[in-house]
Amino acid sequence: MAIGKLINWLTGKPKRTVIPEALWKDTVENLPFLSCLDAGEELRLRELAERFLAEKEFTAAGGLELTDAVCVSIAIQGCLPILNLGLAYYRDWVGIVVYPDEFVIPRTVEDEFGVVHEYEDIASGEAWEGGPLLVSWHDAQMAGDGYNVVIHEFAHKLDMLNGEADGIPPLPADISWQEWENELLAAYDDFCLQVDASEAGFSDDELFDASQAIDPYASENPGEFFAVLSETFFEMPELLHREYPEFYALFARFYRQDPRQRYSR
Ligand SMILES: [Zn+2]
Repeated sequence: MAIGKLINWLTGKPKRTVIPEALWKDTVENLPFLSCLDAGEELRLRELAERFLAEKEFTAAGGLELTDAVCVSIAIQGCLPILNLGLAYYRDWVGIVVYPDEFVIPRTVEDEFGVVHEYEDIASGEAWEGGPLLVSWHDAQMAGDGYNVVIHEFAHKLDMLNGEADGIPPLPADISWQEWENELLAAYDDFCLQVDASEAGFSDDELFDASQAIDPYASENPGEFFAVLSETFFEMPELLHREYPEFYALFARFYRQDPRQRYSR
């Protein structure tokens, strides 16, 4: 990207890639969930995104033109979850591959008889353990109202910091593994019941609302639950707080942010 190269040439390996003021403003304006950040938070997010841009490597795929606007938008969205955690939480990987739209991932699965089956998955994002993060630019621009593919994939990366994406990221000292697992599974089990009831047409309005407003894909497994609810936490905190207040409180302690309080300012 152009802004990165300039700083590289001047200073060798850059500590920060300066985001021009106009590009910063344009990008933030297109991400309405950032409008409630206070001035101090916005400044810290900007500095974090600038350090992120200097450390990570963006690659275009599928014919996408990789502009500064693409990289800056993904960096800003991806850095929101670690605003109070720090860039070290993304230390295990460097690559971000950006596709213009949804992309195909070839997969293999071995059945109970040892026969390997090949199939193709259509994805808007993917986080590879020990590898790059893949994201659709089309989907990254749909951020808001609880859908955020960038926050989703970056949450998987947080989760993978201590192994597979199982919904249990590395926890701070004041949250025990047991407490996290209990709250996560209690909310997850309840959500799965709601999705089942909704699909069977048995849910009342409240349940139906919850499973529609929170992507039912969260019922796939606890790892997806953590990633999807991270999207909800940052974009629709009131909804998450209403449905799962205990889990919301735990998320706020984990991310060291309280988006709900921020929205009410
Ligand atoms: Zn996922």
